Amino acid sequence: RSTLFPYTTLFRSLRRKKARLPYVKTLESFDFGFQRSISKEQMLRLCDLTWIEQAYNICFLGPPGVGKTHLALSLAEKALEQGHTVAFETLEGLMMVLKTAEISTASRRRLKFLKKAALVIIDEVGFMPLEPAEANQFFSFISMMSEKTSLIITSNKGFDEWVEFLGDATITTAILDRLVHRCEIINMSGNSYRLEHHQSITGKR
Ligand code: ADP
Ligand code: MG
Repeated sequence: RSTLFPYTTLFRSLRRKKARLPYVKTLESFDFGFQRSISKEQMLRLCDLTWIEQAYNICFLGPPGVGKTHLALSLAEKALEQGHTVAFETLEGLMMVLKTAEISTASRRRLKFLKKAALVIIDEVGFMPLEPAEANQFFSFISMMSEKTSLIITSNKGFDEWVEFLGDATITTAILDRLVHRCEIINMSGNSYRLEHHQSITGKR
């Protein structure tokens, strides 16, 4: 097939590059025996990606190390494989793009790319408290994306705690309202995979 369409491989690798996934994570390497809040069947059902065509969102919520980013990235892999445009940002990175879009060509281009992507992952929502102006910008972004683009959000905070880092109850309600309207919410619990699979330099545990 790649000999018939020599550009498809090129476009594919360009799309992958622009997605800016921080690393490759797959469902095959996810231990569902360790993380029991979600079943393999449930994740496989999400792999058919009809939710992307319908612009549904997915929220992975839970404490650090339980596999939220891993599962988000494995869905991003599937989406890339099936030809969707995907973009990955941490909330911190997204805020930087939003704040500098008017003065930086790179940020303006990135924002344009995020706007036309089929799937945008916003990782690590809740780690960093937002200033009131930032919370407003975040709301505008979510609002602009809703019902057009699928979002995958990962957060170490439950929705009831979002007001703590967003700072304002009205904005929080408005953001959650847009986000949760068409959304799969996956609450994850358990121990940190990182801590349980701690590797020391000398190999002793
Ligand atoms: P979170 O985003 O919830 O903080 P990550 O998805 O980054 O956690 O997971 C932390 C590390 O542990 C990553 O390297 C990830 O690949 C790995 N990991 C987490 N959960 C599992 C799991 N159930 N099976 C295999 N690897 C896992
Ligand atoms: Mg993470």
